[in-house]
Amino acid sequence: MSSSSEIYSVAIIGGGPVGLCASILLSVRGKSHVLFERRPSTSIHPKACGINQRTTEIFRKLGIDETVYAVSGPPEVTGRTAWYTSLSPEGKEIASRYAWGAGPYAEEFSRYSPSKYVVLPQIRLEPILKQRAQELNPDALKYRAEVTDVREEEGDNYAVLQVRFDGKESEEDVRARFVICADGGRSFTDKLGVRCRDWLGEKDIYNMTTAHFRSPLSKFHSDPRNFITWFSHPDLGGSMQTGFLYQIGPWPAGPEVEEEWVLVCMSGATHSERLDKEAAVKRIRDTLRLPDLPIEMLSLSPWNVNAIYAKRYRATKRVFLAGDAAHRIPPWGALGMNTGVQDVANLIWKLDLALQDEAKYGALLDSYDTERKPIGERVGRTSLHNLRSHSLVMDAALGMSADKTPAENWAALNAYFDPAHPEHARRSSARRRRSTPSSRRLVRRWAGSTPRRTSTAKARRAGMTAS
Ligand SMILES: Cc1cc2nc3c(=O)[nH]c(=O)nc-3n(C[C@H](O)[C@H](O)[C@H](O)COP(=O)(O)OP(=O)(O)OC[C@H]3O[C@@H](n4cnc5c(N)ncnc54)[C@H](O)[C@@H]3O)c2cc1C
Repeated sequence: MSSSSEIYSVAIIGGGPVGLCASILLSVRGKSHVLFERRPSTSIHPKACGINQRTTEIFRKLGIDETVYAVSGPPEVTGRTAWYTSLSPEGKEIASRYAWGAGPYAEEFSRYSPSKYVVLPQIRLEPILKQRAQELNPDALKYRAEVTDVREEEGDNYAVLQVRFDGKESEEDVRARFVICADGGRSFTDKLGVRCRDWLGEKDIYNMTTAHFRSPLSKFHSDPRNFITWFSHPDLGGSMQTGFLYQIGPWPAGPEVEEEWVLVCMSGATHSERLDKEAAVKRIRDTLRLPDLPIEMLSLSPWNVNAIYAKRYRATKRVFLAGDAAHRIPPWGALGMNTGVQDVANLIWKLDLALQDEAKYGALLDSYDTERKPIGERVGRTSLHNLRSHSLVMDAALGMSADKTPAENWAALNAYFDPAHPEHARRSSARRRRSTPSSRRLVRRWAGSTPRRTSTAKARRAGMTAS
């Protein structure tokens, strides 16, 4: 094991969007730092797409907002969302609406901030962040560098990170006054356990797969203006089982540009089930009901839905958790990465002051925990509520459920589409409710008072109760 005598102001573990933003924010403040990322470069999975206005405000400070806007999705394909049975010629739109600051919401969003809500997948955002981080500090980012341990001795004014470079056997000690753990919560923090850390909330709720693929899908979609299309197919037992589809550019689009899409779906009933490439291709075609759809699979990513947050964001005196290392937020609300970027925007200026005078400002660092933890908790809870609304509101209003036979689900859906059906007026409330900002009232109504209801007790047994 070798060791350098340099003491960095800050060491960042993880070069995802949160770690990269932390690096840029430190550079903007002229702070020496180092970032360790175990992969060779940025992520290959599209993941986050929705970038909210608070985050683009921070991007303005980082000097990348205009670059991000230039390659983000244009409003004509990112401002609407819809619910469909399938994209086949027989497929039907159940409901659709404007979202994400588009259409009737544009004026309201512009009142909150001059910065824009934009759609750009993480695979195209991270290279922008990486380039900016390297522009400001060419030596800070260390790729193929895995942190394997962090130690903090009583009385030392630094922490020691153990780092393995380029997959070598040997490790090096690196010292830093403060450490930001932005490792996504999957490897370092979970395996090694940062002291005083625990997870609160609901864990491993659903077992999901994200499939990223090329396909000329817009010509099969009856309304390609929809950014996210949710599917609720009677044969598959409703929306959570069926999945959702979103388009990810690349933008600007052009005749030479091949369309990329993402399908997110449940992988199976047990947490060990994973979709391989062949199964994922079949699943996409089955969900969309397009048996001959040309598909070039680009990446598959398994993940679990969690709504959890760390008990302490200031894990030790010198180690701070940020982003997914501090909270895992179900993506139904597009807030995981946004919350993480906003975590480090809160933390970095405080670290800057503590680096200047730790005796005076050391205690200020506790306010990172006080201010950010309730946000991580609340955002996790509301995002989980959004997810469950698909089963408890949309499917329940339509009369569909995974417990019913396909024939029963078809009968319920036919009532929704047939104006002459006696159930039609009640079932079509799903369309009206999807246009309202809050679905809580309908959760109560459909979970508690209809003949084909999903009882609260049954919903709880199925892990679906709204929190
Ligand atoms: C399908 C899906 C859709 C989503 N959509 C949205 C959305 O629209 N908007 C939104 O805000 N969020 C969204 N999210 C969530 C978002 O992707 C995450 O919140 C975000 O990636 C968290 O960023 P991070 O930097 O904290 O962690 P990660 O992106 O997980 O990055 C952590 C990095 O740390 C590295 N690392 C791990 N361990 C070590 C180690 N020991 N040493 C060195 N490096 C290490 C990893 O290789 C990785 O690069 C979505 C997620 C999914 C799955």
